[in-house]
Amino acid sequence: MDRLKVATVWFGGCSGCHMSFLDLDEFLIDLVGLVDIVYSPIIDCKEYPENVDLCLIEGAICNEDNLELLHKIRARTKTLISFGDCAVTGNVPAMRNQFGPDNVANVLQCAYIDHAQENPRKPSAPGIVPSLLARVMPVHEVVTVEHYLPGCPPSAANIKALLVHLVSGTTPQPTGPHLKFG
Ligand code: SF4
Repeated sequence: MDRLKVATVWFGGCSGCHMSFLDLDEFLIDLVGLVDIVYSPIIDCKEYPENVDLCLIEGAICNEDNLELLHKIRARTKTLISFGDCAVTGNVPAMRNQFGPDNVANVLQCAYIDHAQENPRKPSAPGIVPSLLARVMPVHEVVTVEHYLPGCPPSAANIKALLVHLVSGTTPQPTGPHLKFG
């Protein structure tokens, strides 16, 4: 049987979900014995590959780069997992949505001008610094998602519980102690 190709991606999040992934500790050794990690912040790979089986997505969709890569990931991946509360609900990054249609201008003004200690200016480098979207979105608002793994971050035990199902080809049930937000 072909080894599963597994990816993880980091969008608008604090990397805490990936830290929890690393907390899998010795299960990571078991995991790399069963699957190939083909794209992730924890490996050196620049281009999201074709024919990926599973992708864990950390973070909300906040900017143009997130949006473009998410569509590419969906087209190239069999099973997507919204990984953590930012991906599942928008969570912390989506707090700017409450400031309405002008939230992008307002948060940039607040962060880079009003509270700058020196050299106040908004980041601007076309082609390098991606534009913020008018509204931060959870992953499922943009593309279809097969599984949700809530938690801020999800515990290593919860990540393991889901991966054990997916790697062995069984269907996880959205019930029990491994379902948790916050
Ligand atoms: S869900 Fe929590 S731990 Fe994960 S990226 Fe968002 S804020 Fe960080």
